[in-house]
Amino acid sequence: MADLAATRTDAANSCPTCTRYSAQAVVCGQCQQHPPACTRVFASQYYVPPLVEMLHRFKYQGDSALLPPLAALMRAHPPPWLPESGIDAVVAMPLSAARLAERGFNQSAWLAENLAAHYGWPCLPPQAVQRAHRPPQSTLSRQERRRNVRGVFQIIGDVKNRNLLLIDDVVTTGATINELAQSLKRSGAAAVYAWTLAHPQ
Ligand SMILES: [Zn+2]
Repeated sequence: MADLAATRTDAANSCPTCTRYSAQAVVCGQCQQHPPACTRVFASQYYVPPLVEMLHRFKYQGDSALLPPLAALMRAHPPPWLPESGIDAVVAMPLSAARLAERGFNQSAWLAENLAAHYGWPCLPPQAVQRAHRPPQSTLSRQERRRNVRGVFQIIGDVKNRNLLLIDDVVTTGATINELAQSLKRSGAAAVYAWTLAHPQ
């Protein structure tokens, strides 16, 4: 934990709506031109070793012993806006049914449940948000990522007038998180915040 404190994100110099570098944490030019659907996006850690290996073991080898330390890393560096955000419920980034069957579990749901229990928030049931199967985002360019996720989510649960906190493991371009936030807002959500474990430095 002490070593990993060195790779915490620099919230004081990150854009509050996309997490990219931005001096003094002002909303970056790109977010000013195209305001994202998320009110705020925050990552606790940079996606660098040894977290890369930890997350790989957690996610692809299903090493659930890593859940408590990974969730503890998030809680050790929470979003600065958390106290005034008035979160009503937590939403885990869903996997498609095919990906869930292949992996056997949803790593973001594990993190979401751990955080929800700690902070006393309810979790939206996993079936509340459905995700269609598409090629993994990690294989695509920034442009392709936006196209690849368009219309991928279907909101089944009731999210009207709720302030939602979206939990994911890694945010890269933010395309997936923003697509889900847009879908939730179209279904009546008041605001969508996002908190992820990591983002690339
Ligand atoms: Zn930005």
